[in-house]
Amino acid sequence: MGNKFKFRASPAGVHLFDRSTGFNVLIDEIRPSSLFWSKAPRQISIALTNACDLSCHYCYAPKHYSVANFESLKKWLIELDENGCMGVGFGGGEPTLYPKLQELLSFAAKETRMAITMTTHGHQLSDRILSGIAGNINFVRVSMDGVGETYESIRGRAFCDLLKRVEKLKQITLFGINYVVNSQTMKDLPKAVEIASDIGASEFLLLPEEPVKLMPGIDEGTMRILIEWIENYKGSLPMFISESRAGFLSTCDPLKSETALMAYAHIDAEGCIKINSYESQGVFIEKTGIVDALQKLKFNLGK
Ligand code: SF4
Repeated sequence: MGNKFKFRASPAGVHLFDRSTGFNVLIDEIRPSSLFWSKAPRQISIALTNACDLSCHYCYAPKHYSVANFESLKKWLIELDENGCMGVGFGGGEPTLYPKLQELLSFAAKETRMAITMTTHGHQLSDRILSGIAGNINFVRVSMDGVGETYESIRGRAFCDLLKRVEKLKQITLFGINYVVNSQTMKDLPKAVEIASDIGASEFLLLPEEPVKLMPGIDEGTMRILIEWIENYKGSLPMFISESRAGFLSTCDPLKSETALMAYAHIDAEGCIKINSYESQGVFIEKTGIVDALQKLKFNLGK
């Protein structure tokens, strides 16, 4: 993977980053003029496909067929990199079902300086896929909602199979656990954190269930239990929470002056850029590129 230094200017300061060493420094004594701010969000997520072989009841991924265009993806990655984006996270649906995943990760690793991550349910991480992505990815997020029977009732796959695949994954890259919190999974959270530590996860990301269509999302009682649990958490595994809940929980520490579309945006598998992956409205990326689509999105949102 290319070892090039990354630079970003924003209201938070000047950010220096090297994905290969993890060097990550914000020089906040220097506050660049807005004329020099990087035009891309700090982080971007891209859905490669809507397809998934599982059917979790709270899934918010669109269910109609759509696969991202490979040539467009390559152009967007270059544009994002040139405009100061520091990290790209591939997801879906299930990104390991994207036919050109290996070529895409290889391109991103060779042609950009962004940190490359992927979120997966983990059950497609065959030896072939793992050897194809080895060396071209910095971090993998594995979804693990509940443990044992809870996990199996949600995901319809054996929990021990997930653990076996993660065991192989950790031979090739760092990984973290993504955990959807709802009334079903909350009770398993302490055990899930213990297992995540034991299997070598680098971090644990809490994702309070978001409301989608007919599903109301996490209920107030469970949210209260989660907040109390976070306040009492004393474990050594670094704990984070989704950005949408960061406003009132102390486990997430975003850059306070880099918010909204300056911090993050999502591109769905049809090429529509949005404020997040739960949002239904956005702006389609035309030939004029991502920065132009972002400007239109900001205008539409009145920001
Ligand atoms: S694994 Fe992810 S993409 Fe697939 S159905 Fe479950 S939540 Fe949706």
